[in-house]
Amino acid sequence: MLARAVLLRLSNSPVAERFVRRSRASAGLVRRFIAGETLDSACAVVRDLNAAGMSATLDYLGENVTNPAEARASVETCLRTQNAIRERGLNANVSVKLTQLGLDIDTDLATENLRAVVENGERLGQFVRIDMESSAHTERTLAVHRSLWQSHRNVGIVLQSYLYRTDADLEAAIAQGIRVRLVKGAYDEPASVAHRKKTDVDAAFLRQAKRLLDAGDYPAIATHDERLIRGCQEHAVSIGLSLASYEFQMLYGIRRDLQTALCGLGHPVRIYTPYGEKWYGYMMRRLAERPANLWFIVKNLFRR
Ligand SMILES: Cc1cc2nc3c(=O)[nH]c(=O)nc-3n(C[C@H](O)[C@H](O)[C@H](O)COP(=O)(O)OP(=O)(O)OC[C@H]3O[C@@H](n4cnc5c(N)ncnc54)[C@H](O)[C@@H]3O)c2cc1C
Repeated sequence: MLARAVLLRLSNSPVAERFVRRSRASAGLVRRFIAGETLDSACAVVRDLNAAGMSATLDYLGENVTNPAEARASVETCLRTQNAIRERGLNANVSVKLTQLGLDIDTDLATENLRAVVENGERLGQFVRIDMESSAHTERTLAVHRSLWQSHRNVGIVLQSYLYRTDADLEAAIAQGIRVRLVKGAYDEPASVAHRKKTDVDAAFLRQAKRLLDAGDYPAIATHDERLIRGCQEHAVSIGLSLASYEFQMLYGIRRDLQTALCGLGHPVRIYTPYGEKWYGYMMRRLAERPANLWFIVKNLFRR
């Protein structure tokens, strides 16, 4: 728990970022979790995933952008990514973070930037997923989604089981037919807004996943937790849900064995595939989820 909190704190530290970026020891971990720094390298990874029977959602890395020009540049890269998916015939879509599109600068700016991505997706027949960030952004993220949802149906949200508010957000999403990706939640949240104990988060996740399977529109169950995955499979069978009515989602580089096994059973499996130069925050959250990953770095420190 302490290691998780420290790593999540470091994920926002520019000093730690400079250190990690300079360290050759972290290179192995970056390779494991990130599909390269360029669009070409990411597309090559997606091609391999598609060949193995899995779809992907491409995430151009970046968050907490502080000026409109940078936010606009992120939009351009998202559009290029969507266009590349179409031109190269890939089975993929994009996931975006609203702070990368300017949410911390101005909500209207982020809405208009997202609109460009959603409308391009609509032209190309592609879905767009809005990732969920820290609880400081939850309300505004859902508000931006709401304003686009009035006129666009190819845009969905992510809800985090660790937040107390999620049961209510889930019901609102189900009532409107909004597509939800359910995750446990990856940020360091206080006990005033989020469950802190793993058992509580897991119980909320299973309850909410079952509710989505019962009543949601093509739910995305995003976890590597085998026990929860089994719980969802059993529930889907018990209510007679076809495999094609929902999908499992996992992160690139994590539990590849499980990804392959689920795909082999006929489940739609989508792999969240991040790429780009701004990998630091993303990689630190992956370390925080499993501090044992630090051994990867420690081992490489002593490797010549
Ligand atoms: C497709 C996808 C999209 C996501 N989008 C968001 C989002 O928008 N917002 C958000 O807050 N969070 C997001 N997350 C992250 C999520 O909130 C969790 O932090 C993450 O999935 C780890 O939780 P878990 O469900 O795998 O369960 P855990 O209990 O953390 O892990 C279960 C098992 O999975 C394996 N595992 C999990 N994480 C790692 C790791 N980093 N390295 C190695 N093994 C690991 C281990 O075997 C572990 O025992 C996303 C996750 C996925 C899969």
